[in-house]
Amino acid sequence: MKNSLRTKEMVQSIRDYNAEHPEEKNGECALCTKEAVETFSHWKITENKFPYDLVATTHHMIMPLRHATETELTMDEWKEYQEIKHSKLQEYDYLLEGTSKTKSIPAHFHIHLIIGKGPQ
Ligand SMILES: [Zn+2]
Repeated sequence: MKNSLRTKEMVQSIRDYNAEHPEEKNGECALCTKEAVETFSHWKITENKFPYDLVATTHHMIMPLRHATETELTMDEWKEYQEIKHSKLQEYDYLLEGTSKTKSIPAHFHIHLIIGKGPQ
């Protein structure tokens, strides 16, 4: 298994969810259909249903509204991302991007927005 910021229990709930929702393995993009907690012109912020519960008290994600990889984003989309990053995203502690080793949905660009847990 790849290195995870999730507890064993959270990883198991993902396996259970995937087993119960085979349609998401058949080409439907889970991020495209994900409900937004906040929407911008080109971007939306959503909750992560399976948070990085080892490190996060809050785990949201920001992603383009359209289904696009990082290299497919337009200048307008990047420009708005920079604006959001330097305003709204300052509410979080960390902006975190998985590498190709850990990305679960590489076809739809997204950045993880984390409020950290601190020492337990
Ligand atoms: Zn998508």
